[in-house]
Amino acid sequence: MTRPDIIIIGSGLGGLEVALMMSKEGKKVLVLERQHQPGGCMQSYRRGNLHLDTGLHYVGGLETGGQLYNAFDSLGLMNLPWERMDENCFEEVHIGGRAYSWSQGTGNFIKAMKSYFPHEEKGLEAYAEILRCTDELWMQNTNAWEYLNSIISDPLLIQVLSAPATCKMELIRETLPLFTFIHGTTPFIQSSWRLKGDGNMLVQRLIEQIRANGGEVLTDKEVVSLKEDNGRITQALCSDGTSYYADCFVSNAHPAVTCSLVSSNTTMKNMFRRRMSMQPNTFGMFTVHLQLREGSLPYFNHNKLVFTEPDCWNMAVGKEHVVKGIMVSARIPKDGVDVTNIDILTPMQWEAVAEFEDSKLFHRPDSYNRMKLEVQRQCITLAETVIPNLSAMVVNTWSSTPLTYRDYNLTPEGSAFGFRKDYTNPMMTIVSPKTQIPNLFMTGQSLMLHGLHGVTMTAMYTCQEIKKCIIPE
Ligand SMILES: Cc1cc2nc3c(=O)[nH]c(=O)nc-3n(C[C@H](O)[C@H](O)[C@H](O)COP(=O)(O)OP(=O)(O)OC[C@H]3O[C@@H](n4cnc5c(N)ncnc54)[C@H](O)[C@@H]3O)c2cc1C
Repeated sequence: MTRPDIIIIGSGLGGLEVALMMSKEGKKVLVLERQHQPGGCMQSYRRGNLHLDTGLHYVGGLETGGQLYNAFDSLGLMNLPWERMDENCFEEVHIGGRAYSWSQGTGNFIKAMKSYFPHEEKGLEAYAEILRCTDELWMQNTNAWEYLNSIISDPLLIQVLSAPATCKMELIRETLPLFTFIHGTTPFIQSSWRLKGDGNMLVQRLIEQIRANGGEVLTDKEVVSLKEDNGRITQALCSDGTSYYADCFVSNAHPAVTCSLVSSNTTMKNMFRRRMSMQPNTFGMFTVHLQLREGSLPYFNHNKLVFTEPDCWNMAVGKEHVVKGIMVSARIPKDGVDVTNIDILTPMQWEAVAEFEDSKLFHRPDSYNRMKLEVQRQCITLAETVIPNLSAMVVNTWSSTPLTYRDYNLTPEGSAFGFRKDYTNPMMTIVSPKTQIPNLFMTGQSLMLHGLHGVTMTAMYTCQEIKKCIIPE
């Protein structure tokens, strides 16, 4: 490949999307990925004859005209085999001793909630209003928990409305902005979809198009330094000694990692570095993948959310390793009938694995593996309350913790969604893709919003800023 116009560091969803969007603008792009496999959180891995996903279980807003439809259409992702989840129940919430079904479509959803909580008609109307307005500035400075409490009186309804968010964002009462809460909820209520196949299909579809446009994606290329000359980045130096030159650089790595690549003696101010490295990160995720005995469980086209107490806020697994809530998600079976593998997810704080932080992948101590088995046991026990005899169906299990994400993706503290958004600090709710170095940009979930929807919106934002710089207005 001849000298690229743009180098992208990291092939997560954000990096690949920016690469594809810029290659469609006629730019020659080169993506450098440190892992052996591209995709970051979107990659899937193989165990036996199973393909297991890491960060893709379902996605919202893919109906025609939906929040993600146009973007995915222009990225060539709409012709992947998306299957719509059950329209009358895409989330089954088990909390406070009973089950609540979430329906798709704002009208249907509110109607179903009114049937469970007829005394909350007014509160639910107010909730429907905020589901319809997602771009208001005031939402960034408003606390989600306080707002829900200001419009709804029944504490159980607040929990039911929050429950599906437990594995989609960090439900921390003290910090979560309404903006993040609503953006992570609305697209899924509009319509929810699963991919028939693994996340790698999506990654490969993006890479095929990047290559068709003359770009390239290289793996096993860890960028260790970005060299600056005359106030601009000129080259990316990789751990294998190779260097790549370009006019413009975009980092899909966590912003703290991006800053660490730029020498301290440069245009990038220390205050900016401190801001990027001191910002707290969201919790991580514990995932257990279960392979089930063939024919043991009929497919269910919804997620099951199960809680031990009627409180899904501030419940991530901590030092004591107690599981308080889970999401159970089934992979669409090839035959469409019986489930062959399901994932159980529970949020996990860094404190739960901090004592093992010096250990490396594939060389963890026995105590770490015992801890994983204990958390896994609790996850399966809780899932068994809604899927009777589940443990008798299990043939194989594999699990991962925030340490796994730290070591694969280099996200600080194995954070699942990057920077923690805090309504008291709106400067960090939306972080500009621009850095103080005019030809170095950032993209990815830490900047604005996470998830497939959020990262795609953020990639569009990054491309707008690059274009303004390449073709100034
Ligand atoms: C367990 C889990 C489940 C999830 N489920 C869903 C879901 O069902 N639906 C949904 O919408 N979202 C889900 N998400 C969120 C979604 O997966 C992420 O928001 C999204 O994939 C993040 O993409 P990204 O590009 O920002 O970052 P990442 O995926 O973290 O990509 C960053 C990339 O940069 C690379 N990199 C870092 N440093 C360097 C370097 N120095 N040199 C070269 N490369 C480097 C990394 O290896 C990585 O590939 C889930 C997340 C998790 C953790």
